[in-house]
Amino acid sequence: MKELEWFFPEDLAHVPDLLGLKGMVPHGGGTGILKSGTGRINGLIDLSRLPLGYFRALNSKIEIGASQTYSELIKNIRRIDPGHILVKAVGGSANTPLRNRITVGGSIALFPPWSDLMGPLIALGADVSLIGKNKNNVNVAEYASNRDLVKGNLITGVSFELKSRLSYYYRESRTSVDYPAFTVTILLNKPDDAIVDPRVVISGCTGRFKRLDELEEYLKGKSAREIDVTGAVSFLNVDFPSKKNMTPEYLKHLAGVQVERGLESLLKG
Ligand SMILES: Cc1cc2nc3c(=O)[nH]c(=O)nc-3n(C[C@H](O)[C@H](O)[C@H](O)COP(=O)(O)OP(=O)(O)OC[C@H]3O[C@@H](n4cnc5c(N)ncnc54)[C@H](O)[C@@H]3O)c2cc1C
Repeated sequence: MKELEWFFPEDLAHVPDLLGLKGMVPHGGGTGILKSGTGRINGLIDLSRLPLGYFRALNSKIEIGASQTYSELIKNIRRIDPGHILVKAVGGSANTPLRNRITVGGSIALFPPWSDLMGPLIALGADVSLIGKNKNNVNVAEYASNRDLVKGNLITGVSFELKSRLSYYYRESRTSVDYPAFTVTILLNKPDDAIVDPRVVISGCTGRFKRLDELEEYLKGKSAREIDVTGAVSFLNVDFPSKKNMTPEYLKHLAGVQVERGLESLLKG
């Protein structure tokens, strides 16, 4: 069995050099690394001693360190906004022991098709902070679409604006602890006013995620009364790969039903 070298940096300044070494990868919770195997890995950079476990709520902005676990994230956001989309989404992911290990940074970097984190972060328009090859903040959707940003960079944290919005989250799974086949995230402002800046995101589809921009365009500027929820589903510009016991057509049908239910509950409920 191959021996893996471990590094335990305590200073972020040491990380870029470590990331430059061949086959060296960050280790967050290790749940994804365990599953995908260590075949192409020569060594691991343990992140637990770096100052990345923070959670800050400053001037309506939320900043979450990459080493926050799913459990810590839920507990911290719940204190500020118990109905927040991340509480609904991440709170239903995996199971308690796993949520105690899975980190925010590892989950953004890996973005598995069953992610409960990425749909909501994309809908929130979150920014990811990086060090390494790129020393920048990038939008999470851009990070998820550009593999060049993943290699050679460490995610140090993620941030987004804290806004009062109605939110809907759905994960398509056979049992509560199952991987979701896809997820639906909807964010809307209060339905008594015209809709401004709606966000509808599906993850687990072809291309890993899709912002339903045609549906968002249809919703924009309308009041709840003006929206034909059943007709809105015809704007579902998303495709799916086939999944266990599910054809692409069936998955698209299911996603349409859930988008319709989500809009119904937010606009009319
Ligand atoms: C049985 C099981 C069920 C699960 N169910 C769900 C579920 O329902 N919903 C859900 O959302 N998730 C679920 N997960 C978690 C998901 O599949 C990943 O395992 C998890 O998101 C990875 O996070 P981690 O912190 O363990 O990352 P790690 O395993 O540590 O790392 C994953 C990848 O990201 C890289 N990485 C780690 N940290 C960083 C960083 N800060 N910057 C850059 N790169 C980094 C690593 O090098 C590696 O390539 C489940 C996991 C398991 C094992």
